[in-house]
Amino acid sequence: MKLDLTDLLKQRSDAVRFDYSFDPAHTDTECVGFPDDVTIPEGGIHVTGEAVDSFGCLMFRAHVTVSYETRCARCLDDIRREVSFDVERMILTEAAPEVSHLDDDGEWDGVTDDVLTVNEGKLIPDADLIEEASLAIPTFDLCEPDCPGLCPKCGKRLKDGDCGCREDKIVNPKFAILQTLLDRQKEEN
Ligand SMILES: [Zn+2]
Ligand SMILES: [Zn+2]
Repeated sequence: MKLDLTDLLKQRSDAVRFDYSFDPAHTDTECVGFPDDVTIPEGGIHVTGEAVDSFGCLMFRAHVTVSYETRCARCLDDIRREVSFDVERMILTEAAPEVSHLDDDGEWDGVTDDVLTVNEGKLIPDADLIEEASLAIPTFDLCEPDCPGLCPKCGKRLKDGDCGCREDKIVNPKFAILQTLLDRQKEEN
């Protein structure tokens, strides 16, 4: 979203409030750094906040809620989750080029770690917010904290009930191969 800060920059107002939703697929920014299996549905990133003039220093403050779809790391069920975080950035105006950050092509890339830059009166924080979202989303999620995972033998979801294959359940499908090897060894001895 392009936030119009003209009123703030011309000191006609001391705050510009915003409330909008977007998603990485509808921006020019690539959805890099997100865990595998994570998808953000249309409008999945909700941003509310304000750009304020705080004693002559322009600040961007936002509360961001990200809705995303992923899979349970144990039973592979599709799940929907939400994470929220706050973002605070200093806003640089074009009048401060000496602190600008140039990308490889020598062009101002508009984003540094803690700074957003106004371009022709507009602020576009979305690339920065996507990056923050990728850090906020956990590397794995579970459908429920004690999800028992899949049966290593028949692949059935153990939370749907006992499949009858074995007594001692294996919770992590990664260990299923190990268990198969152990079983095979037992059979051989
Ligand atoms: Zn699960
Ligand atoms: Zn089974």
